Amino acid sequence: MRKSIVAGNWKMNMGLKEGIALFSEISELLKEEVNGDQGVIVCPPFIHISSLAQSLESGDKLQLGAQNCHQSDSGAFTGEVSASMLASAGAAYVIIGHSERRLYFSELNPDLAKKLDVVLKNGIAPIFCIGETLEQRNDGSYFEVIKSQLSEAAFHLAEADFSKLVIAYEPVWAIGTGLTASPEQAQEIHSYIRTLVAEKYNQSLANDLTILYGGSCNPKNASELFAQPDIDGGLIGGASLKARDFVDIIKALDQK
Ligand code: PEP
Repeated sequence: MRKSIVAGNWKMNMGLKEGIALFSEISELLKEEVNGDQGVIVCPPFIHISSLAQSLESGDKLQLGAQNCHQSDSGAFTGEVSASMLASAGAAYVIIGHSERRLYFSELNPDLAKKLDVVLKNGIAPIFCIGETLEQRNDGSYFEVIKSQLSEAAFHLAEADFSKLVIAYEPVWAIGTGLTASPEQAQEIHSYIRTLVAEKYNQSLANDLTILYGGSCNPKNASELFAQPDIDGGLIGGASLKARDFVDIIKALDQK
């Protein structure tokens, strides 16, 4: 059975005090309004993780994730944070390969392959992001782009490790732009990802894989996107910074 998930990516937003307040508001709304078994993950900036982890209560629906980590276990990498540190602070997930990391920090597929290895070794589940640019969508190379991002960064993994991944399809042209992929466009790629995984591993692994859509998802368009058979939830940027919007998106998964 594949798991439905909504994950919020706060990016570089929210001071610690504001972050704690937002997290507690989300937590309260979830308790009052959400009964489904969808997973809910919040990925705040690194410095928030341990404080937010301490506020979690047993049976809480919320889990914590990070937005990135270094590919080495430890060492002389000033300013970086390792996967083992994230695990020790309370992160159960980490976003790997977000398009902003690829674009602004020059992260390439081979770097991401190493990150996936170290994250899995530390017992954290990666939310692995893939997606094409507008140029690649327009020139028709987007299927090839998706295939190479997946195969170069993740297809070296053994089946048992690959099965721990959450994949996020995030067309770069839809991130933070207000342009959402249509449900049909998103479904086409999600289904293609499942086909690639079935070819590389097997059909049952492909069927069980959680594949999230990300890119200007909001309370208005979430239901239509989540209604697609191969869309198992969302990775949410801007709308995850407002508790009401984020929880309404989570509620859209109740109908799935
Ligand atoms: C993201 O950054 O992962 C994202 C989906 O952002 P937004 O929802 O703001 O487009």
